[in-house]
Amino acid sequence: MTGAPDLVPMDVAGRAGRVREAAADAGCDALLVSNLANVRYLTGFTGSAGLVWMGADELVLVTDRRYGSQSATEAGQAGASVRIEITNDSPREILAAAAAGASRIGLEADSVSWADQRQYAEWFSTAELIPTTGVVQRCRQIKDDGEIDRIAKAASIADAALAEVCPLLADGPTEKAAALALDTAVRRLGADGSAFATIVAAGPNAALPHIRPTDRPIGVGELVIVDFGALVDGYRSDMTRTLAVGEPDASARQVYETVRDAQQLGVARAAPGAPIAEVDKACRDRIAASGWADAFIHGTGHGVGLEIHEQPWVRAAADEALQAGHVITVEPGVYLPGFCGARVEDTVLVSNDGPRRLTRSPKELVVS
Ligand code: ZN
Ligand code: ZN
Repeated sequence: MTGAPDLVPMDVAGRAGRVREAAADAGCDALLVSNLANVRYLTGFTGSAGLVWMGADELVLVTDRRYGSQSATEAGQAGASVRIEITNDSPREILAAAAAGASRIGLEADSVSWADQRQYAEWFSTAELIPTTGVVQRCRQIKDDGEIDRIAKAASIADAALAEVCPLLADGPTEKAAALALDTAVRRLGADGSAFATIVAAGPNAALPHIRPTDRPIGVGELVIVDFGALVDGYRSDMTRTLAVGEPDASARQVYETVRDAQQLGVARAAPGAPIAEVDKACRDRIAASGWADAFIHGTGHGVGLEIHEQPWVRAAADEALQAGHVITVEPGVYLPGFCGARVEDTVLVSNDGPRRLTRSPKELVVS
């Protein structure tokens, strides 16, 4: 909770004003927020069902009776200035009343189903509905001190969990057992849970970037990709390390060292004002120099916050610059089907002092 004594407070109340400006830039005089991460961002409400009406001068959270007391408690603790409406029927009347006077109502095109859209067209029949993309998500890109504190805590819990689990790899656990050990450690160390489904992939499985852990035991000398994170008060960390139990063969080691060096070059570019595409290019150029350009088959990174993958996207086509307060991952990889794979990833805060790695686990390949 925002008010928890060991967490830096977040400025939830200040968010609506920025989102309102962004909605106006998108040509809307009101915004109906249906993406639940965006609902949480604006109100502190963490329930699984709710809509936020953002009008010219008020914020209205509409949810159902299951969340009556929870919504009031969470909005209060977040310090959000929001009117809460509880209904077990359709929110039509509440929303139609709130929308009186609005003429251009933005909908979140990425989280409104076709059925919802037809319904809203009926409810708001006198207004024009505007499809918008990423209005709140763009505001979420820049984290305040409270958000950074939560992501940093999640990152340090993940560091501690990996330090605990690394020695267990010498026993040759299955990928699933190693993943479970990480998930358990993350919770025991104080996180609310894992940030996403933990990946542990060894040997040929490591050539598949997002494979689920299997029952295959981790073998001596294999590269093992471990990609996981922790969740603290809604905020996530994301880290990948490539490890080996016993020395891998020379070509696998070269794959790893290429990726490690590429990642370091990418992180070094993550300063305010730098084009995001340059972070991608720094990683990609280093990997290409070793001849593996075609084996780096995904984007270089992504924003991290309330969602594990959010704006800004760190890729060649990015046309914006980094700003202080961005929290991004830098995670190049090389994947050689049937042989091995390597990826190295840190969650990085872009700050006025330069890039600050929030995930700090060492990058020694061979664990003992
Ligand atoms: Zn990751
Ligand atoms: Zn990631």
